[in-house]
Amino acid sequence: MGDVIVLYAAPGMGHIISTVELGKLILRRYGTHKFSITILYTCGSLYDTPSIPAYIRRISHSHPSISFLQFPRVTNKITQNISGTAIMVDFVRQNDPHVRRALQDISKSAVVRAFIIDLFCTSALTIGKEFDIPTYYFYTSGAAAPAAFLYFPKIHKQTTQSLKDLTDTVFEFPGRKSPLKAIHMVQTALNRDDPAYWDFLSFCSYLPKSKGIIVNTFEELEPPAILQAIAEGLCVPDGPTPPVYYVGPLINEEKVSGNDPAAAKEGCLSWLDKQPSRSVVFLCYGSRGSFPAAQLKEIPKGLEASGQRFLWVVKKPPVDEKTKQFLGVDDFGLESVLPEGFLERTKDRGMVVKSWAPQMAVLKKESVGGFVTHCGWNSVLEAVVAGVPMIAWPLYAEQHLNRNVMAMDMEMAIAVEQRDEEDGFVSGEELERRVRELMESEKGRVLRERSKKIGEMAVAALGENGSSIRNLDNFVNSITKLCKFWIFTCICVLVKNKENGRGVAILIRLRT
Ligand code: UDP
Repeated sequence: MGDVIVLYAAPGMGHIISTVELGKLILRRYGTHKFSITILYTCGSLYDTPSIPAYIRRISHSHPSISFLQFPRVTNKITQNISGTAIMVDFVRQNDPHVRRALQDISKSAVVRAFIIDLFCTSALTIGKEFDIPTYYFYTSGAAAPAAFLYFPKIHKQTTQSLKDLTDTVFEFPGRKSPLKAIHMVQTALNRDDPAYWDFLSFCSYLPKSKGIIVNTFEELEPPAILQAIAEGLCVPDGPTPPVYYVGPLINEEKVSGNDPAAAKEGCLSWLDKQPSRSVVFLCYGSRGSFPAAQLKEIPKGLEASGQRFLWVVKKPPVDEKTKQFLGVDDFGLESVLPEGFLERTKDRGMVVKSWAPQMAVLKKESVGGFVTHCGWNSVLEAVVAGVPMIAWPLYAEQHLNRNVMAMDMEMAIAVEQRDEEDGFVSGEELERRVRELMESEKGRVLRERSKKIGEMAVAALGENGSSIRNLDNFVNSITKLCKFWIFTCICVLVKNKENGRGVAILIRLRT
């Protein structure tokens, strides 16, 4: 019987990719003779895209020790007036019977050493426990997010109102330099009228009940005070904090699929090759970051006035909230959404691509000197690894939290000022100011130097004696220690029951 680590990815390409990267890291470090990896994933969610099956086929081919188990299709129940997150969590919950069945089946032919679940798959935590499998969380964000999440049940008790209505309130979080505005908490925690709030509260309460939390970051990037607050148990005031393993940066350096829209956008890479060193500002807002028409008029104003070279990825403006969910919607004309004459006036120093650019490849280009990002964690890590300083323009999820830490605690980014919290609008003047600050000022130069150093630390963290590899070893020791403990317990039971004949059954289990 082999040893397997089972990972459970939340719906959506981003979650699947991060989960695969964790699996790849474990295999790279321990080889395929020690563990195999099985990744569970769902079918039928709102976040399913055509690139997922192609990506999975490619990984199965290049990494045969990673097997994928897709659950039978579940129909997403779309309920009006609830958020996409609440719909997703409900969808994940409907998959619980499939999780149970999968663990049961896998356990017949292998020893499941650990079950690692995405935060959104919290309903599977108790299933892991039912099977007595050590169950861990995997969260792909910086340490500030799990620190705030572990502490959130305490914040919940401090008010009966929705955080979105507490516009003048700030909360202190252990380890943070400055208090966090209530409205800058993760998006799912803002509105008590949305079921996602209660799901989030439940995630936060379950986090400490896991065997550990694996986080996609590296110690050198994080503010020491936050790491210390977690390690000293300050984030969970009324109980023990499980071990937290920082094993990043895990980033996907491959193209998503053969028909990835990025492949069609590589023209921008050759354009970048022709630009001077560190001269281009790259603007890209993740897989879902599209802007309404008014904002799409303002960004060009700022870019034009800044006088800087730029590469800008523009997504189709959303018709409504739901359309933001889909990747690579390409059926629109750039001229129809941008100010008249903008493309012509800036053609010598700017390039605009529709929908998607190969971001990691772009960030690695010598000519890229700054990155305007929505602060999605994968984007942040990609910029960190490439050593590119950032302008932080958060849009959704935990991005405001990331922005605050990146700008204030890590000193890795300049934050843009947003007109109000509700719509997050950024004026052309503000964008111009921040772009100039990053590209022309002394502060920008210092940030660039720092980004370069942190980039080197990111590579070192995953090197032989790096902090992330040490943490990964600690995680693997914890699961093998649990296994040794289990064998020891069995032997004790065996000895105890020797006389009444039950020992034989236990011995059979031990041998398997
Ligand atoms: N990405 C890309 N090109 C784009 C937009 C996004 O390659 O035009 C990739 C980006 O490199 C990152 C991921 O999509 O790996 C976005 O993840 P992130 O966590 O930053 O943001 P999310 O899309 O989850 O909000």
